[in-house]
Amino acid sequence: MGVVERESGPGLAQVRRVRTEIPGPESARLLRRQHAALPAGVGSSLPVFVTEAGGGVVVDVDGNSFIDFGSGIAVTTVGNAAPRVVERAAGQLARFTHTCFLVNPYESYVEVCETLNRLSPVPGEKRTFLVNTGAEAVENAVKIARAATGRPGIVVFDHGYHGRTLLTMSMTAKNAPYKQGFGPFAPEVHRAPMAYPYRWRGDRERCAEEAAAALADLLDRQVGAANVAAVVVEPIQGEGGFIVPPTGFLPAVAEICAARGILLIADEVQTGIARTGALFACEHEGIRPDLVTTAKGLGGGLPLGAVTGRAELMDAVPPGGLGGTFSGNPVACEAALGVFDEIERHDLVRRAGEIERVMRPALAELAERHPFIGDVRGRGAMQAVEIVRGPDGTPDPARTAEISGRCHRDGLLTLTAGSHGNVLRFLPPLSISDSLLAEGLEVLAKAL
Ligand SMILES: *Cc1c(COP(=O)(O)O)cnc(C)c1O
Repeated sequence: MGVVERESGPGLAQVRRVRTEIPGPESARLLRRQHAALPAGVGSSLPVFVTEAGGGVVVDVDGNSFIDFGSGIAVTTVGNAAPRVVERAAGQLARFTHTCFLVNPYESYVEVCETLNRLSPVPGEKRTFLVNTGAEAVENAVKIARAATGRPGIVVFDHGYHGRTLLTMSMTAKNAPYKQGFGPFAPEVHRAPMAYPYRWRGDRERCAEEAAAALADLLDRQVGAANVAAVVVEPIQGEGGFIVPPTGFLPAVAEICAARGILLIADEVQTGIARTGALFACEHEGIRPDLVTTAKGLGGGLPLGAVTGRAELMDAVPPGGLGGTFSGNPVACEAALGVFDEIERHDLVRRAGEIERVMRPALAELAERHPFIGDVRGRGAMQAVEIVRGPDGTPDPARTAEISGRCHRDGLLTLTAGSHGNVLRFLPPLSISDSLLAEGLEVLAKAL
């Protein structure tokens, strides 16, 4: 493998640069237009208007350049406007932009499916089909699980996030802002406690076993296992606050499902596609889900989602039962093939592990210094700290927002998350340079 330029366009300097207040005057002007034209329900974490992004930076209309610790919420994992993504998508744009796969197929769609079949942790013979978003992938995985088992029930976990459509909003745990006022919700969605070591109410040492026992109890006693089509789990919860279940929990969930004829759906919309130091986060514990959903990182910034599953389950839906007008758009498919190319060329799975080895000790050291950091956790380039009032662990969302705001004003794009809004999460693109990664951590240290 030759030396390949990791940064995007040559014009985009890989530097942190704060020239104005944040947001700057140009962004403020555009924000006023936004507020007059868009509903209030559409908000932004860092309301600066972007002109360019790539490598490890996001540049705004005022000439500010932010170190990117967000990747557009785990989407531009291989880098924003990554060279192979741009090249392939641009080529496709010039050839044709759409046929509707349900009208005329094209090869790139099939190739994305073949690639996901080859790489995904689903066992045996597999099939994949494509959609546009994560929520759509989760909805379709549930449809397939119901069709294949003839059962209606779906079990999800506390702190889980699965999307904003009616079904996936019903599956999402957190009320405000995702569900407040939007009911009634879809029926047959049941919620089990998540193995969340830092906030486990029982014996923290036995968190995995106790949470698995609670799931079995929910299935057997409350819902009835014979009524449950699938258990849907994020191997690491994303919006819920980068909750990494203790070792043994996911295999226990898989075993509980298998013993009851219940399908296991791994929602890898946020964790999948090299983010956690494996192509899929399921690999860290060797679990083999029946179905897996992907989206965020899959299209390299273009909207693309997928459901990959065991062939006999996927084929339970008769012809015409799956699809959508825009599903598997040809430009997005070419972009996804560019994503896999970038991952392979730059060994980005390993790069995610390297990023963890830089970030983790740095975050742990900050936690030593600051008693308001209650927990440090994550995998690969998906790391987080939980901000609390003190040793009792009371969540501190106000301080979290203040720290994040300070990072923004000092040129570091950070995101928050968590059921209590008290988690600072870090999702750098895997194309970020070591020096920018280190500089981002320094900015964070200063903000803390
Ligand atoms: C973001 C996310 C979704 C929803 O994806 P959209 O593309 O926003 O619909 C579903 N599941 C998980 C785990 C996510 O992180």
